[in-house]
Order: sequence, then C-alpha cells, then structure tokens
Amino acid sequence: MAKELYPLGEMPPLGEVPEKMHAWLIRAERFGKPTEAFQQEVVGVPAIADDEVLVYVMAAGINYNNVWAGLGIPVNVIAARNKAGEKEDFHIGGSDASGIVYKVGKDVTNVKVGDEVVMHCGQWNRNCEWVKKGGDPMYSPSFRIWGYETNWGSFAQFAKVQAQQCMPKPKHMNWEEAASYVLVAATAWRMLHGWGANSVKKGDVALIWGGAGGLGSMAIQIAKAAGATPVAMVSGNDKFDYCMKLGAKGCINRNDFDHWGMLPHWKDNVGYAKWLKGVRGFGAKIWEVLGEKRAPNIVFEHPGETTIPTSIFVCETGGMVVVCAGTTGYNATVDLRYLWMRQKRLQGSHFANGEQSNQMNELALRGQLDPCMSRVFTYEDLPLAHQLMHDNKHPHGNMAVLIGATEFGLGVSGKPAVAIEHPTLPENDVRTIAYAHPYPMSQPLPSVADAAGVTIKDDGTRVRDLMHRGIIACTPDDTVGEAARIMIDHEIHAVVVMDGDQAVGVVSQTDMVLARQGRTPNEARAMQVRDIMTLGCATCAADMLLSEAVSLMTGRHMHRLVVTENGKPVGVISMTDVVRKVIVE
Ligand code: NAP
Repeated sequence: MAKELYPLGEMPPLGEVPEKMHAWLIRAERFGKPTEAFQQEVVGVPAIADDEVLVYVMAAGINYNNVWAGLGIPVNVIAARNKAGEKEDFHIGGSDASGIVYKVGKDVTNVKVGDEVVMHCGQWNRNCEWVKKGGDPMYSPSFRIWGYETNWGSFAQFAKVQAQQCMPKPKHMNWEEAASYVLVAATAWRMLHGWGANSVKKGDVALIWGGAGGLGSMAIQIAKAAGATPVAMVSGNDKFDYCMKLGAKGCINRNDFDHWGMLPHWKDNVGYAKWLKGVRGFGAKIWEVLGEKRAPNIVFEHPGETTIPTSIFVCETGGMVVVCAGTTGYNATVDLRYLWMRQKRLQGSHFANGEQSNQMNELALRGQLDPCMSRVFTYEDLPLAHQLMHDNKHPHGNMAVLIGATEFGLGVSGKPAVAIEHPTLPENDVRTIAYAHPYPMSQPLPSVADAAGVTIKDDGTRVRDLMHRGIIACTPDDTVGEAARIMIDHEIHAVVVMDGDQAVGVVSQTDMVLARQGRTPNEARAMQVRDIMTLGCATCAADMLLSEAVSLMTGRHMHRLVVTENGKPVGVISMTDVVRKVIVE
C-alpha cells in the first residue's frame, strides 16, 4: 500500500503521489528574518487542476522573493491570497526548480509522468480573455510569479505548477544547476529579445550592469549568443576574468567612476557640468574597452536610480535602455533632451512569457548557457541560504538547494551539443558594496483607479473653516531677492506667483536654492521669479470638504492648495493647517 508520507530523499515509486509531504513553510505569526520565518512542516500534497502538473522536486533555486515573503513586507502574501479566496494559511515559496513529473491534469499534453523538467515561474489564467485572444500573458491581469505570488512553490517535496511552465531539463546539468538559472535567464532573455526593433542583434554593443550577478551573467551569454558584443560592468577587477569567460569583450570597474546617483537638476549649472564630465569619462571608457568609438545599442539595466542617468546618456541614438528592477532605488532621473532628441527608448521589462522562457531554454539545452551556479545548500540549510541573501553576504551568481536529490552533483544524463568553459567566481567572492536589498521582483502598485490620497474622517469641516485668508504673493516680474524677502518675513515655505488675479505658479525654497547653483548671491537675487518658479498652481474651492482637500493634497503629493471663491484666489490651505486640526487640537 502507498505510504502516507515519504521521508526526504526517499523517492516515491514513479507516479505514486502520497497524501502528505515535507515542506518549508512560512506562516504570518513568524514573519521575520529567514532563519525564523522558514520552518519545516508536513502538509497535504495539493490537488491539481486539469491544466496543472505535480512535480517531484529534486532541487530548488533561491532568489530574493522569498526573503521578502518571509519578512511579510512589502506584502503579506498569505493574507493577499486569503483575500482572493484561497484558504491555506501558509506560504510554500520557491520560484525555480528541477524535478520529475509525477501527475498530470487531464488537459495536459506537453509533459507526461516521468519527464525530467525545469520550470519557469510565470503563471496566468488560460481563460483570461486577453490570453485567449493571443495577447502576451505578461500583460494579463491574472499573471503571477509562481512560488511568490502563488502558493505551492519548489521548497517542498511536490510542487504544483501549470503544465505550460514545464520545460525539458538540460541533460548535461545536475539537478541543482538545472534548478538555478531559469528565473534570471528568462528575465534576461525577454529584456534582450522581447522588444521588437530594439532587441539585441548581431553586431550590436550591449552594456550589461552587474555582469557577475544573477541576471548579468545570463545577459552576457545571451547577448554573445545573438552575435552582439557584451561589455560588463562590475565593482572589482577580480570579476573581469569571470565575465570575459562568459563572453564579455571587456569589463569596466564602476568604482573607477564617481558620478553615480540621481541627475543634478538641469538648472544646477555647476552640479550638471560636474556630472557631464563624469559620464563623458565613462563613455570614453566604453570606447577604450571596445577599441572603437561606438555607443551601446542596448543597455541592460537593473541597478536603477544610481545608474539610469548614465545608461540613458551613453546609449546609442535610437537605442534602448531596458530595465527590470531598481535595486538601488526607484527614482530614475532622465534628462529628457537626450531621450527625445536622440530618440532613445527606456523600456520596462518583467520576467518572461512561456515562449520566451522556452527560447531561452533552447540555449541551455544546447549547452550554450552556463547556469553560473555559485553555491548549493542542503535541504536543512534552506533558511540559511535566504539569511545570507537577507544579510547581503551571499556570493554572486545563482544559488540552489537540494530538495529530493540526496547528494550534490546527481542528475546528469547526457553531454551538451556545445561545450563552454565553466567560469568560476573569484575566490571568497562576497558582496563588498552594501546596498538596500532589492524589493521583490513583483509588488502591487497603485493604479490610477486606486491612487486616491489618504482620506480623513469627514466631520463636516470645510476648507474655509481652516484656511488662511489672503494670499502672500509675488509677481513673475519680481526678483528672486524680493520673493525671498517675502518668504522670510512671513515665515512661509513658498510664495504664490500671481499674474493679475490669476495664480500662475509657486516659487518655493527649493527653487531658490537651485537658482543659487553656479551663481553668485547677487546674480541669484537679480533673477526674475518667472525664471525659477514651478509653473501651475493646484487650487480648491473654499466650500470643499476638508477631507476632500486632504485627499487631493496627499494623492498629488502636495503640501498646500490655493483656495478660490468664485474662481478668484482668496487664501491658502496647507498640510500644516490640517495637522493643527487633526493632531494638535
Ligand atoms: P544580484 O545577483 O545581486 O546581482 C546584482 C548586481 O548588481 C550585483 O552583482 C552588483 O554587481 C550590481 N550592483 C549592485 N549595486 C550596484 C550599484 N550601486 N550600481 C551598479 N551595479 C550594482 O541580483 P540579480 O539576481 O542579478 O537581480 C538584480 C535585480 O533584478 C534585483 O533587484 C532583482 O530583484 C531583480 N530581478 C527582477 C526580475 C524581474 O522579472 N523583474 C527578475 C530577476 C531579478 P557589482 O557589485 O559587481 O557591480
């Protein structure tokens, strides 16, 4: 008779699915650091739908998503699913895996029991109208990252996946290697191949950020296989050899430059000139590495805030900066002049659809994609692997953990058609740069529909009950010196700019500080308000409910509104007035 539960490492007879399984579970009551959030438990093996497959997991890949799932931020993934109607009060993570098909739903045709597979992590509802019409499932509202946004990931003896996620396992890879590359490689594939005329092609130059990292190591190989010339960015010369072995023509150490970060304001002449000097030096370094004066046709981006200004600047006219993350921050500043006049494209990209994942996997099956696995852990060390990631102490490259496989190195059953040199990371590779841990690759974002601001309790108070009557104003023709004096005399942070009886803008403290950049105090004082003011002025009617005015301000990230009566400006309401009422009173 079939056993109810098999011990770890004892493989059930092919096709026999026990009632229960061992798994690493995250539960809401222990949200926190990975070594506490993940606990071993025994749970029921999930039932599968007609288009689903149950896979006996041999090894699982490790990525940031489940560090965040364990912390319970920015999303409580369990509560989110419960809200959507799923009953399980736990999360089994894991978005990368290799294993053996043990059971298939009745509509499944692409795999059968016994097939050795790897899985991509894109799930969507096959009945979604968009998908049924042939639309890219990546744009379907039903799209989810398996093992992060969905339950039943690969950190268990059995994983529940949609059949379309299954792809053949490269025979020349062992279980852990096969479990480690799909998420990053498929993401890199879509970034490089998914964007029409700007997709990578023979003869292109591709600048790859984080060349020794998970995504970057895949991107170098994918760009090279397309006949392009990859240039890798890294933070130390000791990683040059690794990236060159993967196919980079040359490498650049980003620590040789210091112009990183958000763009200085374009009105800040001194700051901008300094930045330009830095970025031009960087562009010249790319020429030096290439041995010719060429700009990258495609820039492979994920650091985000600190590097986007540079990526946009150095990108070739008509080229593309393609970005899938903002590891260093999300406020990517762009000098639009370079974007429109040189007609560059800034393209967002997220994971990959099934077709793209399979195209990528073809490269792996042929032996042309090294999984770049840096470290593999035993089942017991699964929380440790995540803890290292949490503490930013994990090696570069891709990590995996054994699940059903009893030893490292098992599962190889063939030779690749193309053999490439397996690169190794520099010895004792650790992360020397402390940067904020990236947020999960998927997170809920407010849309236009739900981006309404904060709502406070409506007690009938109207704007006119709290507003300051009278407008402290200047005119566009006033000098900056005069406007600054008004600001200081009235102890306010911004002055409304009135043209006749029309409020046409606001001049703030920030505008004034920027006006001073690259100018003497006398030069700055002599400028006219019209040259530095922020155009436009948000208004509200005096009889508007205070609660509505607060939503307006918070929704638009503003601190004050000009109040009008009969269309004429009569006063100002500020967040300070609101605070006085809702907190101080
Ligand atoms: P990773 O292995 O940690 O590699 C990231 C690389 O970025 C590092 O190797 C580092 O290389 C480089 N880097 C770090 N700080 C930098 C800085 N300030 N400026 C420039 N480069 C910097 O991570 P990964 O797996 O490649 O993932 C990268 C990001 O993509 C993460 O945020 C991840 O969540 C996201 N991601 C998104 C998707 C998606 O579908 N949207 C999929 C996968 C991953 P050096 O220090 O050598 O420069």
